[in-house]
Amino acid sequence: MIIVMKRKADQQELDNVIERIESAGYKAHVSKGTDRTIIGAVGDERGKVALKHVETMPGVDKVVPILAPYKLASRETKEGNTVIKVGDVEIGGPKCVVMAGPCAVESEEQLMEAALVVKKAGASMLRGGAFKPRTSPYSFQGLGEEGLKILARTREKTGLPIVTEVMSSSDVELVESYADVLQVGARNVQNFVLLKKVGLAKKPVLLKRGMMTTLEELLMSAEYILASGNDQVMLCERGIRTFETAMRNTLDISAVPVLKDKTHLPVIVDPSHAIGQWKFVLPLAKAAVAVGADGLLIEVHPDPEHALCDGAQSLKPEKFYKLIDEIESIAKIVRKGYAQGYGAH
Ligand code: PEP
Ligand code: MN
Repeated sequence: MIIVMKRKADQQELDNVIERIESAGYKAHVSKGTDRTIIGAVGDERGKVALKHVETMPGVDKVVPILAPYKLASRETKEGNTVIKVGDVEIGGPKCVVMAGPCAVESEEQLMEAALVVKKAGASMLRGGAFKPRTSPYSFQGLGEEGLKILARTREKTGLPIVTEVMSSSDVELVESYADVLQVGARNVQNFVLLKKVGLAKKPVLLKRGMMTTLEELLMSAEYILASGNDQVMLCERGIRTFETAMRNTLDISAVPVLKDKTHLPVIVDPSHAIGQWKFVLPLAKAAVAVGADGLLIEVHPDPEHALCDGAQSLKPEKFYKLIDEIESIAKIVRKGYAQGYGAH
């Protein structure tokens, strides 16, 4: 449930309420809004009766049940949107953030070339997988820790923060020691051991929707991370499985406004993995920005024909510059006229 404090409630009153919540066996998640403070009391239902009395405590305005099963991820629990800061980059703020780069880190030269394109375009973050979840065990599996080192060196040279996937709970500390954002891939969206582990990490998490995951299941997965203590979670729609075979997946564009309605967490769209073909990435990226996505995840490769992973959906540099140019005007309208800072090349 949510405890809404009165506007004039002081720190002592707030502390007393938190103590009462915790002594009833709940965890207290405090959210200080511009207007007033609200406290989410989250945990199993035991202790519910004891919490009833909180309503009469000094400083408390009202106690409201959280109806959604995802308590911390729900909009009900927080005033405003979650804005995640990665260096100077703000995800969930006025700017639509573009994260781009190759599917996989293949070599120092390949990543640097891609990173310079990402930077020249004015995009905010560099992506690249060092641990790759491949359908075939015979496909390139990624460079592992060497890939992480290349990512870190490329960040040093370009200043671009890096987002990279962590596939296994045993690798979380390792990946966290190099990455700025930890990606949990579509295939791991319900790997609850991994979700709990990234929930203990100090870095933001980009959580991808699985190909067969409902929005409620996605939000419950986010809840695992939030409930473990990491409140820096962004969601990513990357296409789902439908009866349609003309595309790699079907981009569920409707997920964006629906998620934005249900949760305060930022919503990113990955049109590359959704469509699977480079020539349709641009129209889907435009649609994603138009429908309110807080960011885009785009695969870019200096030489897609020779990419070791996902070349067919990777944009060549020129196409990526065009994408950045074309989304700028849409972002300006949709995101209420804030300067987007695109088109730096
Ligand atoms: C990726 O981003 O490279 C990736 C593997 O994505 P997904 O988990 O959405 O398939
Ligand atoms: Mn990929």
